[in-house]
Amino acid sequence: MHPAPPIQTTESTIITSKLNEILAREVRGLKTQSAVNPILQKQLDDIISKLDKLPHHLSAEEKKEEVQTTQNMKAKRAEDIRKEQEPRINAVKTTRSIEKIMEYLPNMRYHYENVDSKENDQPDGLYCSDCLKEENSDVSSSQKGVVHYDFTKGESFNKAKTLPQEFSNLKKKVISHMETDQHLQNHDMRIRAEEWASRPEFIKRNQQIGRTLARNALKAITENQSQLSYEMECAIDSAKGIDIGQLNHSFNFASSMTTPFYEVLRDEIRQQLNEPLPGTNRLSPVSAILDKYTPYRRTVDIIGANAYVGGKIETLYADGDLVKDHSGKGIGESVSNALDRLYGNEEWKQR
Ligand SMILES: [Zn+2]
Repeated sequence: MHPAPPIQTTESTIITSKLNEILAREVRGLKTQSAVNPILQKQLDDIISKLDKLPHHLSAEEKKEEVQTTQNMKAKRAEDIRKEQEPRINAVKTTRSIEKIMEYLPNMRYHYENVDSKENDQPDGLYCSDCLKEENSDVSSSQKGVVHYDFTKGESFNKAKTLPQEFSNLKKKVISHMETDQHLQNHDMRIRAEEWASRPEFIKRNQQIGRTLARNALKAITENQSQLSYEMECAIDSAKGIDIGQLNHSFNFASSMTTPFYEVLRDEIRQQLNEPLPGTNRLSPVSAILDKYTPYRRTVDIIGANAYVGGKIETLYADGDLVKDHSGKGIGESVSNALDRLYGNEEWKQR
């Protein structure tokens, strides 16, 4: 058995656990009602026993113990990393070149002040890729996680000369960074994340969780519910024992899915609108619809089209924008533009 993946406490997991609490209360309330039939009663008992095992149902004493165990595990791993890197750090202490520092400590990389200095290969120091792992971390104005060095002082020194103070300082700063708790923690997180990401069962689990969450987001949209209902769907799934992971449980995830859902739907509709009909082997004729709506003296044109989609005649919404030009030409143009966007091209005009 592999150990469980790292548990990340995020705002969304807090929301989910709050929702689970609400759900647990409601389920308990249901149970006391005498109208519940025996089969439902059994299902409720199962849900309650599952909810009782969720982290927020732990007693204060059990929670303290869990926190203590997690902290002990983290401290143990940090100690292991410290031991593992000790010989390499000792090697850095006696080294006389930047190249060697980077060979012993491969997480240390060249850092540049800006894009120009990167192009001209003029570094201004070294940075730790475990601690600054975002893209373009090698180019930043931030001082955090970067050890600056004046490269005009030299990059390699032979034994006959005394080391310049700047080079000794660089080594000291690099070593003290490697020994900070923050670095040890970041390094630990990176290697564990890499290890997990390469496991097929992790990838499979992630994909399954992604599908479950995306279905809940789609449900919130297709059933015209508030996106907040997404959070309740996730809480219910969790109570049912479905693996929903530890991330993306907030309504923000459902909201972020709206654009991809729209794009998939739009592409599918466009494809069907531009395919010959099975019955006639010809493209569907075009029928545009225009209606006017004037709330508070502002006129909106609602533009749509009747078309064969999925074997049926459907009315499709194309646009609903404020009318800027009320002339016949202006309205004609807005209808034409809206249908161009709906069909994805201007060829509908030839039908
Ligand atoms: Zn670091």
